Amino acid sequence: MGATTLAGSACAEGPRPSGGAGSPASRGEGPPLSGGAGSPASRGEGPPLSGGAGSRPSGGAVTPTKAILSTHGFLEEEIETMPAEQLRSAALARLRDTLARARGLPFYRERLAHVEPAAIGSFADFAAAVPTFTKADLIAELRRRGTWETGIEALTGPPAAVVLTSGTLGWPTFAQLGRFELEDGSAREVQRELWMDGMRPGMRVACQYPAWHHLSMLDGAALQAIGARVICPWGTFLPRFCDHAIELLACARPEYVLSVTTMLHAILERALARGIEPAALFEPVRFAMVAGEPVSPGQRRRLIELLGLEDLFERGGGSDGLWGGAECPAHAGHHVWSDHHHVEVLDVRTRQPLPPGCRGTVVVSNLTAERSLYVRFDTEDLGELLDGPCQCGRTHPRIELYGRLADCVRVRGRLLAPYDARAVLDEIPELVGVPIVLVRDGDEMERLQVRLDGSACAEQLAEIAAEHLRAGLGIPVEVRFGGPLPRRFKARMSTSLPRQGPGGARWARR
Ligand SMILES: [Zn+2]
Repeated sequence: MGATTLAGSACAEGPRPSGGAGSPASRGEGPPLSGGAGSPASRGEGPPLSGGAGSRPSGGAVTPTKAILSTHGFLEEEIETMPAEQLRSAALARLRDTLARARGLPFYRERLAHVEPAAIGSFADFAAAVPTFTKADLIAELRRRGTWETGIEALTGPPAAVVLTSGTLGWPTFAQLGRFELEDGSAREVQRELWMDGMRPGMRVACQYPAWHHLSMLDGAALQAIGARVICPWGTFLPRFCDHAIELLACARPEYVLSVTTMLHAILERALARGIEPAALFEPVRFAMVAGEPVSPGQRRRLIELLGLEDLFERGGGSDGLWGGAECPAHAGHHVWSDHHHVEVLDVRTRQPLPPGCRGTVVVSNLTAERSLYVRFDTEDLGELLDGPCQCGRTHPRIELYGRLADCVRVRGRLLAPYDARAVLDEIPELVGVPIVLVRDGDEMERLQVRLDGSACAEQLAEIAAEHLRAGLGIPVEVRFGGPLPRRFKARMSTSLPRQGPGGARWARR
C-alpha cells in the first residue's frame, strides 16, 4: 500500500499518529467535534510482513496522477477533505449520540448498561467501555427470540427496506434501513464513493448485484441521486449467469460496470471461450468497481489490460455490520467515511485496538440513525488501518482488507490471509488467478503450505511459486499442486481452507 508504513516497529511500539477517524456533521445532526482519539497501543499481529506482502501493494497498472485524481473530483469537497482532527471530533460526538440511542435498544440494554455516553471523551474511552459482539451473538439472539429481529433495530417508524446479510456462519440475519438511510444516510456515502471513482450523471451503468444485499439497495439509491442510467441483467452476479452479462454488455454498451470480482473474471473467461474479444466487448466500459474479495495488483493489471478499462476500483465492507468503503483513484486502501462509520482494528488475541499498520480484526460502529445499528460489531475480517494522508486529498480514514479471519493461517506468529499468497502468485504470469488454498494443520505453523489448482500443473511451476512466496513473505513455504479446486462464488481468490475432520476435507467460505 503506497502510504502504509508496515515495516518496523509500529505494532510493537505503541500508538502512532494516525490519519484520523472522525466525522463531519454533514447534515447538521452530528454534534460538533471535540477531542482526539487514538488507539491504545498494543502488540500487533506479530511482526509486520516484510516487503510487499504485509500491506497490499497499491495500484497495479494505474499510477494515480494529478490528472486522474482531479478528473474524479469531489462530490462534497468540504466534507471529504475536512481536517482530520475536525473529523475525529465530529465522529466522537456522533459516537456519543449513537451510544445514547443504542442503550435503549433491547440487544444493547444490558451490554451498555454501564456506559455513560457523556463520559466518553475519546475513542480510547469508547474502546475501553463498550464491548464488542459478533455475528454469532446476533444468531444466538435470533434463536432466543424466535423472530427475525435481533433488537438492534433503531428505527422510529416502519422500515423502508429489509435486507439480508450474507449468511456467514450459515445464517443470514436481517437488517433494516429507514427512509433516511436510503435517501440521505448510507446511500449518501455510496453516492460519494461512486462519484469519487468517476460515476457521473447520464452514464450507462451495468449493475450485477443481488437485490437482497444492502449494497444493491444503496447503489440503486445513489445512482438514482446521481442521475446515472442503470441497467440490470437477469441472473445477477453468479458466474453461471455470465452469458447473460455478456449479452447485456454487447447490447446495452454500458460505460461503467458494478460487479463482484469473481463475476468479472467469469465474464472474461467466458468471452474468451466463446471467441469474443474482451476488449471489444468492454469497449465502451471506462470503469469497473468490484466487491466481494480483494483484488491483487496482478489481477488488477490483467483485468484492466484485457478489458481495456481506464481503471478498476475495489470496494470492501460487509452486509454484516452494514458498512463499507471504496478505493479512491490512488488505490491505497478503502476510504471509510467517518461521518457514517467508526472503524477500529483490534489485536485478535488481546482484543486491544491497534494503531495503523497493524493487522487485526475489523470492528465497526455505525454513526447514522434509522437503521439496524451495529455498535462495536466485530466483523471477523482481517484488516489494517493505513497511516498518513492519501494522495487524493481525502482525509477520511483508510482501511485495507485482506479477507475472513476464519480463512487465515498463523505462520511463525504472523497472520496470513490467502490474499497474501494470491498477491505474490499473481505476479507469475502462469498463475494469475489460479485457485489456491492455504492448508491449516495447526493454530501455529512453522511454514506456509499452499495447494495450487491441479489443472494449472506445469513442470517446475510449484518450485517457482514457492521461491516467489519465500522471497515475498519471508517465511518457509511449501507449494504443491492438488486436485481441481472449486471455482464458485469468491473461490477465485481461493479463501478456502481444507480442514480434515471426520467427514474429510471441507471448504470453509464466507
Ligand atoms: Zn484517497
